[in-house]
Amino acid sequence: MLDIKITPAQALKPQPDPDKLVFGKTFTDHMFLMDYTGGQGWHDPRVVPYGPLPFDLSCMVFHYAQEIFEGMKAYRTPAGQVQLFRPYENAARLNSSCRRMCIPEIPEEDFVQAVKAVVGMDRAWVPHKVGASLYIRPFIIATDNGLGVHASHSYLFAVICCPVGAYYPEGINPVKIYVEDEDVRAVKGGTGFTKCGGNYAASIKAGELAERKGFAQVLWLDGVEKKYVEEVGSMNILFKIDGKIYTAACTGTVLPGVTRRSCIELLKDWGYEVIEGPLAIADVMKAGHEGKLEEVFGTGTAAVVSPVKELDWKGDKVFINDGKIGPVTQKLYDTMTGMQWGKIPDTKGWIVPVCKG
Ligand SMILES: *Cc1c(COP(=O)(O)O)cnc(C)c1O
Repeated sequence: MLDIKITPAQALKPQPDPDKLVFGKTFTDHMFLMDYTGGQGWHDPRVVPYGPLPFDLSCMVFHYAQEIFEGMKAYRTPAGQVQLFRPYENAARLNSSCRRMCIPEIPEEDFVQAVKAVVGMDRAWVPHKVGASLYIRPFIIATDNGLGVHASHSYLFAVICCPVGAYYPEGINPVKIYVEDEDVRAVKGGTGFTKCGGNYAASIKAGELAERKGFAQVLWLDGVEKKYVEEVGSMNILFKIDGKIYTAACTGTVLPGVTRRSCIELLKDWGYEVIEGPLAIADVMKAGHEGKLEEVFGTGTAAVVSPVKELDWKGDKVFINDGKIGPVTQKLYDTMTGMQWGKIPDTKGWIVPVCKG
């Protein structure tokens, strides 16, 4: 149990227009901070007014990217309650990232307590508008000053929050995906399973090129043979082929998404066979040409599900479900968002309340 010191902001910011929210641009009134010092451990947990911090330019995170993050949301129910979706999964994944990046772990209870502290403080920022939510970004950075390459002895854990509008303000819009055949995102033994900033830095180039060609996202293949599908930019990806669901296994190169895992659990509850294992892109394209590629969708906290209408691999194209969202994708979307926004009962024990109103 953390003894969190609260310093309230003197003046509260005006609330942004809920119809004009741009993702990740407007932050709430407060942030959570906690320091780590070698020999002392994590200390000084506190909620303070949101604002910039001074860093020496030799600070390790700027040079060697010893940094990890999480992404989660708080939702407001029709009754006004503010709630989280499976926050202990984020806590466990943060610690898994910590272990790979030589960053000291944070007890899961403390992580969830920190998130609840800042969300509770800024509960007025959790939008009332249907489909909107409060995006939560917990992260840890190495804060030693100096250019020597080694694990830092000091760290900062922070939680910042920003209100976000509905991901699909004009209804769910299936996207075109470019199968990346040059760059790779992850290899076994690397950092693919962690949420570290470096993974994103290395993926920006392919994303930019795909965007210029008119695609929404890149689909990454395995880093060795470029043969098997892995995941999409910031989403996992699932394929429904001839009645069965396929997705890459989380064996080191794929980020273990909370949304992915939740969708797999629901699909199994509904009687679908879900195969987590290698799926060759050539087999996906073949299924597409034979009319057996029934649904393709990405999963992630931001969009929940993102249906795919077209895959493009080395100039070969397949089109999925006439450009429309498929019935299984739709049912997953309705069930997940129903529980998250408290419109249907949480039959899975996935919801963790933060506060009333
Ligand atoms: C965060 C992330 C996901 C999705 O994870 P969720 O827990 O479902 O939000 C998938 N892939 C990558 C690379 C990610 O960073």
